[in-house]
Amino acid sequence: MTDSVYNFCAGPSALPQAVMQKAQAEFLDWQGLGVSVMEMSHRSDEYQALAKNAEANFRQLLSINDDYAVLFLHGGATLQFSNIPMSLLSQSSYKNQAAQAEYICNGMWSSKAANEAARFGNVHTIDVVETDSRGIRSLKTIETWQRASDPAYIHYTPNETIEGIRFTRPIKSPHTIVADMSSCILSEPIAINDYDFIYAGAQKNIGSAGLTMAVIKRELFAKMNFQSSPKTFNYQEQDKQGSMVNTPPTFAWYLASLVFEWVIEQGGVIEMEKRALEKSQLLYQCIDEDDFYTNPIAIKDRSRMNIPFIMQDESLNETFLSQAKDNNLVGLGGHRSVGGMRASLYNSMSVAGVKALADFMRDFKQRYG
Ligand SMILES: *Cc1c(COP(=O)(O)O)cnc(C)c1O
Repeated sequence: MTDSVYNFCAGPSALPQAVMQKAQAEFLDWQGLGVSVMEMSHRSDEYQALAKNAEANFRQLLSINDDYAVLFLHGGATLQFSNIPMSLLSQSSYKNQAAQAEYICNGMWSSKAANEAARFGNVHTIDVVETDSRGIRSLKTIETWQRASDPAYIHYTPNETIEGIRFTRPIKSPHTIVADMSSCILSEPIAINDYDFIYAGAQKNIGSAGLTMAVIKRELFAKMNFQSSPKTFNYQEQDKQGSMVNTPPTFAWYLASLVFEWVIEQGGVIEMEKRALEKSQLLYQCIDEDDFYTNPIAIKDRSRMNIPFIMQDESLNETFLSQAKDNNLVGLGGHRSVGGMRASLYNSMSVAGVKALADFMRDFKQRYG
C-alpha cells in the first residue's frame, strides 16, 4: 500500500505502512547480518530471539499468561477447521463415543468449520442468524438456541468476515470454548479466561498469509488425541518445540513481529478498539443516511472490522468500484458469494482512509442517486 492508496481488502489485507517500510529497509540485510531474515536458519540465535520477542509481544498485547501456549503455525485458519476436531472430537480421542461438538453458525466461515468438523465426529450446529421481513439479519438471543448437551467443545466465530456480523460479547460456558478470531484478533482487548482455544489466520489483522496463530490452554492437551495426526498437527509437540517441529513460516512470523511492535507503539489493543469504533461509526453513519446504500445487519450486531454494503441499484456496482479505484480506494468488491461491496477496516486502516471512502460514497450518491 502506497501513501496515496487506501486498501480495504478483506484479506490478505493492508499492512501498516511503517511496517512495510521497515521490512523494505531490512529486506536485504537484517540486523547487519548481510542476509535477509528469510535467508537464515530458524534455529539461529538471531531468529530465535525474534521468535521469542514476537511471542512475548503478542502475549503482552492480549494479556495471555503461561497457562496458555502461543503457537505460530502453518496452514491457515482452514487447517484448524480440521485439526481441532481431529484432536478434540474424533472418536478415538474422546472417551464418550457419542460426544458432540457444538458449532454456532453465524456466517460462512463458521459453517465451513462445522462442515469440516462433521467429517471427524458428531457435530451439533446451531444457526443463530435470523432475517426480518426487510432482509435485515441479526443474531438470535442466546436463550432461544437449541444447545447440545455436554459438548466436547463449543466452536464459534466472534466476527464473521463475509457477512460483517459479530458477537458483541464472548460466549461463555463451562465447556471448552474454541474461537476463530481470524478477522478480529488484536482489534480489541479480550479476557483470555473466556477461551480455551483461539486461532487466527494472520493475513487479516496480523501480517501476511502463511502464518496461523493458535492460543491453547495447556490443560486442554490432556483431552486431545494426536495418535493419528501428522506430527506437525500435534499442538502439544508444537508447544514443546517452540512451534518449530519443522521450519516455520519464518518471513510471515517476522512480519507479524513487526506488526505486534507497531500495535504496541500505537497504544495496544485499547487504542485499536477506540479507532475501530471511530472508523466503523464513520462508515455506518454514511451508509445509514438514506436508502442509497444499505448494510443488511442489525445495528446491535454489526461488525467493526468488515462492513458490507449494497446499493439499491445493483447495476451501479461496477461503476462504483471502478470510480472508487480511480480515487485510490481499492479492495472494495464484496465477497464472491454475496456480491455488492465490502470495506474491511482492520487495524492498519487509518481514520483518514475511512473519511476518504465516506467522502467518495457521498459524492457518488450525489451523482447517481
Ligand atoms: C479468512 C478467514 C478464514 C480462512 O482463513 P484461511 O487462512 O484462508 O484458511 C477463516 N475464518 C475466518 C473468520 C476468516 O476471516
